[in-house]
Amino acid sequence: MSINNCPVCNSLHLSTVLTRTNIPVFQNVLMTSAQEARQIVRGDLSITECSNCGFVFNRTFDSSKVVYDSQYENTQSYSTYFEQYLDDLVTDLVTKHGIRNMNVVEVGCGKGLFLKKIVDFGDNAGYGFDPSYIGPDVLQEGKLKFEKRLYDEQCTHVQADVVICRHVIEHISEPVSLLKAIRNALINSPHAKVFFETPCVDWILDNKVMFDFFYEHNSYFNRHSITRAFQLAGFDILEVKNVFNGQYLWIEAQVNTTIEPAHQPKQPLLQDQAKSKLFAQHESRWRETVHYNLEHYLAIGKTAIWGAGAKGVTFLNLIDPDRAYIDFVIDVNPNKIGNFLPGTGHEIVSIEAIAQRGISTVIVMNPNYIDENKSLIAKHQIDVKLISIEEWSVNEP
Ligand SMILES: [Zn+2]
Repeated sequence: MSINNCPVCNSLHLSTVLTRTNIPVFQNVLMTSAQEARQIVRGDLSITECSNCGFVFNRTFDSSKVVYDSQYENTQSYSTYFEQYLDDLVTDLVTKHGIRNMNVVEVGCGKGLFLKKIVDFGDNAGYGFDPSYIGPDVLQEGKLKFEKRLYDEQCTHVQADVVICRHVIEHISEPVSLLKAIRNALINSPHAKVFFETPCVDWILDNKVMFDFFYEHNSYFNRHSITRAFQLAGFDILEVKNVFNGQYLWIEAQVNTTIEPAHQPKQPLLQDQAKSKLFAQHESRWRETVHYNLEHYLAIGKTAIWGAGAKGVTFLNLIDPDRAYIDFVIDVNPNKIGNFLPGTGHEIVSIEAIAQRGISTVIVMNPNYIDENKSLIAKHQIDVKLISIEEWSVNEP
């Protein structure tokens, strides 16, 4: 199955950015043995760009392969850097956007950690929606309520002042439908502010992060395409900006009550597509550089990567599928330790294992965490060489 029209603007002007076959469909799932990890369900990636609106997507995505259940584990809050990022975001929403004593809906609330923060800090009431939510339906004497379902036109009874949806839309194959469902849910709350956060595909392309395209993420936006998607669903965009050192897009929107979604003015064409063409050409040179460097560190001693999230899983499936270069994966999420990396079967170990297992080199997958990792190493008095994967990026001639 392959999609021929852009899922956002319906254009037929599509071009391939990169293809990968037989890759794990999950990056953030717990695997209790190396054998189980290597037998994970696999799928193909055909990352495709629309030259009309700039939307990037996997045109061979098969949603029946990706079912999120209790084995899905993507808690990022064990990182102090990430936790600080969330706290700053909540502070900003409460103090600068005045989200205080309001009804806050979170779409795709996961375990509700972010919603709890914004309820506590701003004295708000929170309504979390997530089909995979596990926990009590009501908390904090009714200030926090959860429903194990999607947020859609059936939810018009929930008065919303604010709707927040973080890191959901990139998992959805029909993003405009998700946005329309939210707009329809807001029929009785037409003045609600809507905030979205999602990875920025321009950051991936500009920085040539070869391991940021993976199966769990099916829809990748830049400022242009996210604006188009919101407009097509009947929203006005109030602001789009890059956050998390450029890696994410932050969108603020509200329901457009004046124009029917179908009659949105067309935006001008954009996209010279030079970025995505360079990206694809870059991959083989990047692989050579990484293998050359890994051989050097392999000769010195045991080598690990830091980060068993999507970046680390995608990196090792690309670079070391047979575990020839990398011995272990370090992670700070205690739920992941003792498990094995989806696809390759590398063992996931704790920071203490760096000394215990005699690891001499650790490659950090996300540059945002390098300072945090350095201070953890210092705190544990561990003697190891830390390298940011950024150092191995290849500059174009
Ligand atoms: Zn398009």
